[in-house]
Amino acid sequence: MKSTARVVGLDRRAETRQKTVLITGGAGFLGSHLCQRLLAEGAKILCVDNLLSGRVTNISALMQHPDFSFWEHDVVDPLHIDGPLDEIYNMACAASPPRYQADPIHTFKTSALGAINLLDLAREKGARILQASTSEVYGDPNISPQSEDYFGNVNTFGPRSCYDEGKRSAETLFHDYAERHGVDIKIARIFNTYGPNMRASDGRVVSNFVIQALKGKPITVYGKGEQTRSFCFVDDLVDGLIRLMAAPAEVNFPINIGNPVEFTVRELAEIVLEKTGSRSALQFHPLPQDDPLQRRPDITRAEALLGWHPHVSLEKGLQQTIAYFQSELERKSARGAV
Ligand code: NAD
Ligand code: UDP
Repeated sequence: MKSTARVVGLDRRAETRQKTVLITGGAGFLGSHLCQRLLAEGAKILCVDNLLSGRVTNISALMQHPDFSFWEHDVVDPLHIDGPLDEIYNMACAASPPRYQADPIHTFKTSALGAINLLDLAREKGARILQASTSEVYGDPNISPQSEDYFGNVNTFGPRSCYDEGKRSAETLFHDYAERHGVDIKIARIFNTYGPNMRASDGRVVSNFVIQALKGKPITVYGKGEQTRSFCFVDDLVDGLIRLMAAPAEVNFPINIGNPVEFTVRELAEIVLEKTGSRSALQFHPLPQDDPLQRRPDITRAEALLGWHPHVSLEKGLQQTIAYFQSELERKSARGAV
């Protein structure tokens, strides 16, 4: 595994033969980058997705590759796979608040039943399994930055609960399968990540602001835009996930993966306007219920245990993201779809 050669304490068990890797949610934003990267590194990829928020266009360039296969399947239902399996990245779950709130019961089932089905599969195959957890396990945090030993401030009874509590339940299941069945687990608590392959209609803040700016439409700032987020570029994030997967078996507890540089949502809007050269106006909307006021990862563990640190600044990452959405808009306009 070329790119993980610098990983602290690299686990070398699968280096001599081609790895088979299952990526659930592989047609989504993060999953598609992971498919592309691991395929380029020589792995055989099985991509599973129900196409709820993902798109075949994210993986269409990979479809011709002999080591890539796609299976349309919902992880709420058990998975039966023939042959050996070395690693599972469980990325399946819509991450955008409007998308995961559209069918909250299915969102919860995706995290809880999906975790059970994939942990059972990992146990059957003796595969290592990584869970895409989230900074949302900290809820609306009353400490900053958030380190992994903070238990969080989460509402069990609100519009975001299906996602937050679903992800928390998945972490619990990972803990218990490791304890009781010896399953080889990894847990990445992912903080806000952005980049190419996000859907224009996804509803998250970076895609909304960039598309609005490029179209000359009002920039929809929720609340006063004083709430903060820390934005990680997708390449950095994928690097962190791959390093975590390659870490020694003892690293079987949650690890924050995110960029610790914090911005207010209003600052983000202003940077997007500057980078796009757009003259769109800011338009203020009510702050959604339970929207966390601050979010910033403490990445001490990732730095110490994985030798990982993000390298791409928001300005640089936005440049690539803006270029991606610009070409998406041009492609759609050429097809008469805008
Ligand atoms: P995304 O919505 O683009 O991708 C999620 C993918 O999972 C989609 O392709 C979707 O179709 C698929 N999916 C959803 N429910 C499924 C189901 N029941 N069965 C099979 N496939 C299903 O989101 P993303 O940003 O790529 O997020 C990927 C993972 O990372 C998610 O689990 C998310 O919770 C986690 N995460 C992402 C971020 C972020 O900022 N991007 C932050 C924290 C956690
Ligand atoms: N947000 C916003 N305008 C938008 C979309 C989101 O101001 O058009 C805000 C949202 O209220 C939140 C932050 O941007 O405070 C990040 O939202 P996102 O949905 O991207 O992710 P979250 O971190 O809330 O899951």
